[in-house]
Amino acid sequence: MDNKMFCFQCEQTASCVGCKGAAGVCGKKADTAQLQDCLTGALIGLARATEGNEHLINSGTDRLIIEGLFTTITNVNFNNATISALIDKVHTEKNRLVPECLKCASSCGRNSDYDMRSVWEANEDIRSLKSLILFGIRGMAAYAYHASVLGYHDETVNRFFYKALFAVGMDWDQERLLPIVLEVGAVNLRCMELLDRANTETYGTPVPTKVPLTVEKGPFIVISGHDLYDLKQLLEQTKGRGINIYTHGEMLPANAYPELKKYSHLKGNFGTAWQNQQKEFANLPAPVLFTTNCLMPPKASYADRVFTTEVVSYPEIVHIGEDKDFTPVIQKALSLGGYTEERYVKLIVASSSCLK
Ligand code: SF4
Repeated sequence: MDNKMFCFQCEQTASCVGCKGAAGVCGKKADTAQLQDCLTGALIGLARATEGNEHLINSGTDRLIIEGLFTTITNVNFNNATISALIDKVHTEKNRLVPECLKCASSCGRNSDYDMRSVWEANEDIRSLKSLILFGIRGMAAYAYHASVLGYHDETVNRFFYKALFAVGMDWDQERLLPIVLEVGAVNLRCMELLDRANTETYGTPVPTKVPLTVEKGPFIVISGHDLYDLKQLLEQTKGRGINIYTHGEMLPANAYPELKKYSHLKGNFGTAWQNQQKEFANLPAPVLFTTNCLMPPKASYADRVFTTEVVSYPEIVHIGEDKDFTPVIQKALSLGGYTEERYVKLIVASSSCLK
């Protein structure tokens, strides 16, 4: 395959066939796509190394597998430095599991990183089945990640990530791969139930809620993505600071959770869907925090107002670390000051509010 990159994991893919040039439709550059393939190949090597060493798997191993898979889904991580650092961590963990492989003078290669070109260049049936498995567990990893930040884990779900990665790295025929594709669906349902339980037990069962689409005057912060924990931390840190919070895109449902909507400064929703962000954030007098997938390459007109956290990362964009100290976002909101008058931003429905 004489391409600069190959990626066909999402509905944006070029010509409905695959992104193969210098960058994908999503803005992911070829070298980043290649690094994401390296990361996936390293995760397959790690999964292989767990066979016979299941007793050595710990929560750190699980976390690495989930974080690695989540990092490669669309519109999450564009940062070669953080992807490379993650690959290093995966190698370190693999070396903990199979230290003898590191010293072996005539390695059999069994636990080596897998070359993803073996998937992309396989015959179309095998390529399709392995892609269904891989893309399925990438999405599932996002759910598992969000559940885990709230302290919810499921052993069946976690074990399946290893099994599925192992399968992607094997030279198996359709008969062996098809049942695993079906298992992806079954385990994914279990994972969605886990996340639902995590969200509703932590923040209450969502209730029908009118979500204002008007932005009040004064400082505000826009928050996007799916991570309700991040939103909660942001609401706590902005309480009583004269800063309002508005959801964007995927974060809209957060307005319906009782434990989040009780914050009076969670005012409503700004903008429409994720794909309109480059238009909607131009000239925005407020910072935007991305907590999960849906980040597009920020335009120069607003790049200085974008912040990332969790697995989201973009070169030269300020990243909020695990301490969840949102001070830089808050300071940016205060310095920008927001709109000088209340503003209705034309949005999701022809109304001044929407029902979620
Ligand atoms: S994730 Fe990006 S590079 Fe991959 S198919 Fe989608 S648009 Fe193309």
